[in-house]
Amino acid sequence: MAEEIRLVFHNQGLRSYIEVDLCRKCPRQDDKGCCGYYSPVFYLCDFAYMLKNRADLVDYVFSLPNLTVLDASVTINSAPDGASYRCQFHTSEKGCLLPQQLRESVCRHFVCPGIAWEKEEGLKDWKLFFEQIGEYEINLNQRLADSFSSRGLSLRDFRQRAEIFNELAAEFDELTGTAPDFFSTRPLREEFVIYRELTFGQDWKL
Ligand code: SF4
Ligand code: SF4
Repeated sequence: MAEEIRLVFHNQGLRSYIEVDLCRKCPRQDDKGCCGYYSPVFYLCDFAYMLKNRADLVDYVFSLPNLTVLDASVTINSAPDGASYRCQFHTSEKGCLLPQQLRESVCRHFVCPGIAWEKEEGLKDWKLFFEQIGEYEINLNQRLADSFSSRGLSLRDFRQRAEIFNELAAEFDELTGTAPDFFSTRPLREEFVIYRELTFGQDWKL
């Protein structure tokens, strides 16, 4: 029998996200689902949002072990855990410890292929919206990265991080002062129900 799956799409501009009620009883049945196979990567737009809303999280990210720090991004590498991995923000009891808006873009947008909401004709406007958000965010991250790089500033050098984070919020505001038209093409929140046949354990594809 097909399972009823409730999806909630949230239009919050750059911090838009998708909620899926199936995640609470993920068919993977390993208490981690897709989070057991991913290491989140935070880019400059994510840090700009943190600086404005949870500045303490920036220091927390840099205090974590097993980071890959590049010029304009930080990967929080997951640790081996049983047959898969465990993201450093994940707990068995509560799932992801980060509120949706503080997660990076893959974590805000990803829905596993078993659900495949993009195939629903009635959701094509949301599909386009999330594609546009993805492109817009990549472009912003690149422009911010180019700006710091042109001044010889890199997150790799811990002595330069304070200067980058002092200037980041203002640069981000300058680039995003005028919201793109597509931001207003979707409602703030829209809920849909779709039906899918479930498979379990490793048979539920990620
Ligand atoms: S694999 Fe699918 S159902 Fe499971 S946690 Fe990830 S998105 Fe949710
Ligand atoms: S940050 Fe949260 S949503 Fe993203 S992989 Fe880690 S636990 Fe999952």
